[in-house]
Amino acid sequence: MSVSIDYDLCENTGCCEMVCPEDVLEHDGGRTTVVDQQKCTSCWICVDNCVSGAITVD
Ligand code: SF4
Ligand code: SF4
Repeated sequence: MSVSIDYDLCENTGCCEMVCPEDVLEHDGGRTTVVDQQKCTSCWICVDNCVSGAITVD
């Protein structure tokens, strides 16, 4: 799977990290990043919960 965050859209809420069941994402306060692509199951929970449409999963 490929998970990407568009930083022109991301508002750094950390929501995607909180809802991801596989710990693919990390939110350290400064920036939310994709830390483990291999774990992604393409469930789209992060996409559905992103307020800004910043996440792409394919
Ligand atoms: S699609 Fe699912 S598993 Fe993949 S990063 Fe988003 S919430 Fe996590
Ligand atoms: S949920 Fe969307 S806006 Fe919030 S940190 Fe994740 S990618 Fe950025």
